[in-house]
Amino acid sequence: MKFNTKTIHGGQQNVDPAYGSVMPPIYQTTTFKQSTPGGHKGFEYSRSGNPTRAALERSLASIENGNFGLAFGSGLAAIDAVLKLFKPGDEILSTNDLYGGSYRLFTGIFADLGVKFHFVSMKDAIDIEQYINKNTKMIWVETPTNPMMNIIDIEAMFRVAKEYNLLVAVDNTFATPYLQQPLDLGADLVMYSATKYLGGHSDVVMGGLVVKDQKLAEKLYFIQNASGAVCGPQDSFLVLRGIKTLHLRMQRHCENGEKVARFLKDHPRVDKVYWPGFKNHPNHNIAKKQMNGFGGMVSFTTAEGTLESAVSFVEKIKVFTLAESLGGVESLAGHPASMTHASIPREERAKTGIVDSMIRLSVGIEDEEDLINDLKQALG
Ligand SMILES: *Cc1c(COP(=O)(O)O)cnc(C)c1O
Repeated sequence: MKFNTKTIHGGQQNVDPAYGSVMPPIYQTTTFKQSTPGGHKGFEYSRSGNPTRAALERSLASIENGNFGLAFGSGLAAIDAVLKLFKPGDEILSTNDLYGGSYRLFTGIFADLGVKFHFVSMKDAIDIEQYINKNTKMIWVETPTNPMMNIIDIEAMFRVAKEYNLLVAVDNTFATPYLQQPLDLGADLVMYSATKYLGGHSDVVMGGLVVKDQKLAEKLYFIQNASGAVCGPQDSFLVLRGIKTLHLRMQRHCENGEKVARFLKDHPRVDKVYWPGFKNHPNHNIAKKQMNGFGGMVSFTTAEGTLESAVSFVEKIKVFTLAESLGGVESLAGHPASMTHASIPREERAKTGIVDSMIRLSVGIEDEEDLINDLKQALG
């Protein structure tokens, strides 16, 4: 099956043996009848497993070319489950230009439990080896990064990881499997905030993990069930529905993203524009190699370079909405320094280039002319 068919049919055979409904029923139940102790039809209790969630988990595994999918109550709950694979003393190398909530979870919770994190630039694979020692267990990769749109070479990370026997995990929230399939590039684990493009309609908070290896899947399933951060059947249904148009939406996100990036680049009130499709983007060639497009996320800084100029822009937009999050059908604008990345200290932010005059756009699938006109009036 090709990707555009998998989004619709992947893992969805016989979702309703009772009536043959095309979409899986929303099994809004906590528990399942047993004929004799242990005599059940595959489900016992909805934390451990629910048929609607299972349909979604099969879809996730399918679109990512993995063997096992696991769905969680949020993206961070999914990351939390991954980190519970480790013990005090274990070390993790992480992308330094990281989603703010991931940084908060790493430093605010797991660092206190004894896991050590190194936040490193992964622009060049060669730079990361100096941080690897006998306690290192995993490389955590986020690409494209948020909001700097840096691109990390997943295959290069895999080559280093293989040499030292480390896991490679990729936060694939920005790219989605439509643009990038990390497991095919050697990663062991893919994580999503399904809240974003997979759900795609800004109406569900959810997270997902996909792996190939059965042992790793079993460990993660144990954590999913033991810690219990699962998502409900209703939300599973909505994300499954979202995935069915993922390829169409992503195609338009990419087209509109490109239009917006090129418009901003030529605008006198704009300083820098961060979008991996530009030929002079530092890792444009890697983006071209490992992605099937450049996505709908575009960040920029104002020519004035001040906090006030960024605030003035986000107060003026009308088609774009000033809001956290990304990846929905509607266009959103965010101010990373005060919103998504406020939990990262100012000095850490500055090191990675997240200045006060930066604005991050999640370009939606509206008419491109309306989007450009809105940016024009807000900048002018
Ligand atoms: C939103 C996001 C997360 C966290 O996901 P939630 O669903 O909000 O918990 C993690 N990584 C990235 C890149 C994100 O954009």
